[in-house]
Amino acid sequence: MVLLILPSIGLGKAGGQVASSLPRLGHDSSVGFDRLRCGVKTLLSEERLREGVDELARQVAAHYGDRPLTIVAVMTGSLVLLADLIRRLHMPIRVSLIQASSYRGGTEPGELHLRDDMMLDVRDRDVLVVDDIFDTGKTLEDVLICIQQMQPNSLSSAVLLHKEGRQVVSTQPDFVAFRIPDEFVVGYGLDYRDLYRNLPYLAVLEESDISAQSF
Ligand code: 5GP
Ligand code: MG
Repeated sequence: MVLLILPSIGLGKAGGQVASSLPRLGHDSSVGFDRLRCGVKTLLSEERLREGVDELARQVAAHYGDRPLTIVAVMTGSLVLLADLIRRLHMPIRVSLIQASSYRGGTEPGELHLRDDMMLDVRDRDVLVVDDIFDTGKTLEDVLICIQQMQPNSLSSAVLLHKEGRQVVSTQPDFVAFRIPDEFVVGYGLDYRDLYRNLPYLAVLEESDISAQSF
């Protein structure tokens, strides 16, 4: 497994310390909160997401070069990231899916369930696990342990979001697009009770949004 943590994206400090490269959310207008018509607050606009995924793809491409890559996407939250990321990568790519679910319909994590019956054979392959968000880290850690047992040639991981101050594991993702504050977020594939995945931007879901839900 590659053990490097890349600085957060879009801050123009390649190689800087992770702590000093955190986006100053709420102070930087480019990542500030805007209340939208549907009620939820935008944390990352479509444009910021595009830039972040561009940079994530650049980092992955720089690491793997032309080597064939098997991407294992952790369903369901990573499906939008998967679709956007693979179209920015130009090495030969196989796409494999693994299902992980820990949120049993709400905003608090429950017991983790993994389903690997949609996995390709990854033995002796270079494997990149792609997930939507690194929160406590338990999901990614369990997925990596599960795939490591399948004897890949190499194994690394990429996440769209790294939620600050929540981790309970020592595992870290190798590639991170954005570091975000400890808020429950939806959109760009992430859900609340299976809704909101189709929002093209990333939004913070607050208690008041949940109680105001009419669907
Ligand atoms: P972890 O195991 O790292 O605590 O949680 C990872 C999984 O929990 C993610 O893949 C995602 O499905 C879900 N998750 C964690 N934080 C959030 C969040 O803020 N919003 C949503 N929608 N899902 C989250
Ligand atoms: Mg998930």
